[in-house]
Amino acid sequence: MPVKCKGRPSANWYGNGCRCAGCRDAWRLHSAALREEKRKNSKDKKPSGSRDKPIVFSDAFTREEIMRARGT
Ligand SMILES: [Zn+2]
Repeated sequence: MPVKCKGRPSANWYGNGCRCAGCRDAWRLHSAALREEKRKNSKDKKPSGSRDKPIVFSDAFTREEIMRARGT
C-alpha cells in the first residue's frame, strides 16, 4: 500500500514514499536547496587565498647551494 501524505505534501513525505504532485514538487525544491547548500559549503570550505600563497623557498642559500645553482 502506497504511503500518502494525506493532503500535507512535503519533501519528507516524498522520502517516505508519497509520490503525489505536491510531494514531488516539495522534493524538487528541497533537493535543489540541498544542492545549493552543498555548493555554498564546498565554496566556503576552500581555504581562501591559499592559491596565492607564494612558494616557500629556503630563505638562506648556503654558499655551496649558490655555487651549484650557478653551475660552477
Ligand atoms: Zn504527497
